[in-house]
Amino acid sequence: MSDHLAGGYDLVIFDLDGVVLLIDKPIPGAAEAVERLRAGSTPIAYATNNASRRAGEVAELLNGMGVSAEPAEVLTSAGAAAALLAECLPAGAKVLVVGAEALRDEVRDAGLVPVSELADEPVAVVQGYGPEVGWKILAEAALAVRAGATWFATNTDRTLPSPRGPLPGNGSLVAVLRTALDRDPDVVVGKPQPGLFRTAAALSGAQRPLAVGDRLDTDIQGAVTAGVDSLLVLTGVSGPADLLAAPEDRRPTFVTADLSGLFGPADDARVPVSGGEAGGWRVARDGDRAVLSGSGDPVTALRLLCAVTWDGVAPSAITAHSPEAGELLRSWGL
Ligand SMILES: [Mg+2]
Repeated sequence: MSDHLAGGYDLVIFDLDGVVLLIDKPIPGAAEAVERLRAGSTPIAYATNNASRRAGEVAELLNGMGVSAEPAEVLTSAGAAAALLAECLPAGAKVLVVGAEALRDEVRDAGLVPVSELADEPVAVVQGYGPEVGWKILAEAALAVRAGATWFATNTDRTLPSPRGPLPGNGSLVAVLRTALDRDPDVVVGKPQPGLFRTAAALSGAQRPLAVGDRLDTDIQGAVTAGVDSLLVLTGVSGPADLLAAPEDRRPTFVTADLSGLFGPADDARVPVSGGEAGGWRVARDGDRAVLSGSGDPVTALRLLCAVTWDGVAPSAITAHSPEAGELLRSWGL
């Protein structure tokens, strides 16, 4: 039992977009993966940087797609930001909220007073994504920060996915203030900061959590920072070329095509220490170059190649020595 990947962990923390859902549709196999973990009594959690919905709304959305979720299993960067504000500020402190209604509600429920103007004398500004955020509230926030308010950002994802392609995310709105103020936020709450993962582990009493994500710069870097093992699935934002070029603090423990990899052997999904042979592929290293030959499952080749690029071979220095290898490298844009 425990030689399957998920069997080695006492909590599986899922990112949402690109992992269990794509915008408004479940990713095929996600509902089954969640059920299978529940059947095996592995606790699960959902950790999302999106601050525009509350935990209960996220759970409702997931259940509506057939992916089972309890509100208590959901951690949002809005909830985490409010909890952090409540830790740092006295009860009843005024916080200027730039973001969605969900963020205002979280701030209020944390015992603080959400306000919208400098005239209310806020001691902190919290900024999260909201589709109605406009110049007026950004201007109030800029004035408040300049007057000494502490600036919290729920997350700094530059984009957020949509059916029409990537749209400006909270990171883009944070960049507006960053430009106006010529400084960075004092505190960033969501991934790649480790807070969401640490809170998820603490809430379920987990000693050995696994983080599952689709983005190297948020999910995987957050897991590395939190000291948590991670699984990258290739159903979302980060692709093979990103993975091969990943800096040390953005390298996952495991890579699989999708969530079904949770139930395969852990050793098959692990990025090996060096190249070599696996599943019909062969990666031969020659100094600062590497040659891929053979054929088989693309993700198997990807893991073998990560072993050499993470050890100093530039992705552009990989060459193909079989038609299938050539086709694969081309499909990854290499
Ligand atoms: Mg994601």
